[in-house]
Amino acid sequence: MIPLKTEEDLKALREAGRILAAILRQLRQNLVPGITTQEIDNLTEDLLWRQKVIPAFKGYRGFPASVCVSVNEEVVHGIPGPRVIKDGDIVSLDLGVNYNGYFSDAAITVPVGAVSSPVKKLVEVTKNALSEGIRQARAENCLFDISYAIGNYVESNGFSVVRQFVGHGIGRSLHEEPEIPNFGTKNQGPLIKKGMVFAIEPMVNMGTWECQIQENGWTAIARDKLPSAHFEHTVAITEQGPEILTKVK
Ligand code: MG
Repeated sequence: MIPLKTEEDLKALREAGRILAAILRQLRQNLVPGITTQEIDNLTEDLLWRQKVIPAFKGYRGFPASVCVSVNEEVVHGIPGPRVIKDGDIVSLDLGVNYNGYFSDAAITVPVGAVSSPVKKLVEVTKNALSEGIRQARAENCLFDISYAIGNYVESNGFSVVRQFVGHGIGRSLHEEPEIPNFGTKNQGPLIKKGMVFAIEPMVNMGTWECQIQENGWTAIARDKLPSAHFEHTVAITEQGPEILTKVK
């Protein structure tokens, strides 16, 4: 069963999304060469505290930090630590927020300093792939129309979509039904309905889509160690179409 949200739920989810987007925006401004991924997590904790919201990832199945910070070849679930961000890196920030029992989830990949043009293209294509997916997130479409739109866009640009991790429903829990793969066949999957809320999140690799989990049990890296990018929004299906709840202005 894919849960449907009421107007009341949506009100709270909008607030959860707005707060998350504001925090991501501030984190992005602080991503400069020389900062460690641990310092990014410290800053995140501080911002969450100030907004009076709870980090959704910290403690989730034992994840030790508030924000996932994944650098270059790290795909997702990077654990903050001593790694120093360098000029030319790309840094993916994935953050989840619990606002009064309502969850939002979003990710951005930020180029730091002078990033090479193929890597810049990877980031752009991933961001656009998310938009392509969101455009299909409307009532009476099939769920995998979203998946197809993302996968097709990414592959036609010469990159590969990660298959091991998927988007998901979200609301009163961080992960709800359905799973939303970033590849698939049009006109398949459950019918999308008004009131559904999805976290849509293409993870795109420059080389192979295959990933490997690091020894910490969390961090996924691209098997060929080529760069990877990740964008995510929490999106509500409304009568007017998809409404992005986590727009980072
Ligand atoms: Mg997510």
